Amino acid sequence: MNRVALVTGAAGGIGSATVTRLTAQGYAVVGIDLEEAPESDTVAHVVGDVRDRYVLKGAVDFALARWGRLDVAVAAAAVIAGGRPLWETPDEELQQLWDVDVRGVWNTAAVAVPAMLAGPDPHGCRFVAVASAAGTYGLFHLAGYTVAKHAVVGLVKGLAADLVATGVTAVAVSPGSTNTPMLDATADLYGISDPVVFSNNQLLRRVLDPGEVAATIAFCCSVEGAALNGSVVHADGGFRP
Ligand code: NAD
Repeated sequence: MNRVALVTGAAGGIGSATVTRLTAQGYAVVGIDLEEAPESDTVAHVVGDVRDRYVLKGAVDFALARWGRLDVAVAAAAVIAGGRPLWETPDEELQQLWDVDVRGVWNTAAVAVPAMLAGPDPHGCRFVAVASAAGTYGLFHLAGYTVAKHAVVGLVKGLAADLVATGVTAVAVSPGSTNTPMLDATADLYGISDPVVFSNNQLLRRVLDPGEVAATIAFCCSVEGAALNGSVVHADGGFRP
């Protein structure tokens, strides 16, 4: 039986690359995003908001009804905001980052993990949260996003502890600057015209392709990825802020 995955942020740069990668490896995938995304025999897509746990529950129930199991959840949906110091950041901006980037991941875990635990093979099940270099470092004029991504790392560590001995594992993948619409949005926050500038933050001296990050995520999703439980995998090209 093929493995089945839930991917949030499935219309985005890293999320869509993850859907492509997982389906190439034989997974069936249900994606969720605020935006539309292509469907196929092995890809279903739900237009919905990760802030709404019932939307996520509906997507999990859909996967269970159609494919009979859920092996993997990848929480990639997020927003970025900032471009000013912490003390000038409006409460609403921090609230949005918290609601989407943290509670969205929390909601994903809260609906996906019970389905994994009740499924036929918990020992192959993986929860993968997409954090960020901002989950390790403090990034200039991105205090709210930095708080949110550090919280995602904490969420994964707490979840891994709660999953002790169940066989289901949790891992955070922290990308560096990756060529997606979010990187363009980040450039806008800094008033930078060309995101290639972000190459300077990475020892590779280039921004990453979403497919490169998706390849790391796919390994974390694999049965062989169990040893990464509770850890942060840095898919960041050698990020140095
Ligand atoms: P992206 O903007 O291309 O994709 C994010 C997707 O999330 C979008 O399709 C968006 O519609 C969706 N989304 C936003 N809010 C949502 C909500 N409330 N409900 C459902 N979907 C929602 O960005 P990306 O670069 O592909 O980001 C994917 C992940 O990688 C994010 O967690 C991001 O923080 C992280 N990340 C990205 C970079 C980078 O340089 N691109 C670096 C580090 C971490």
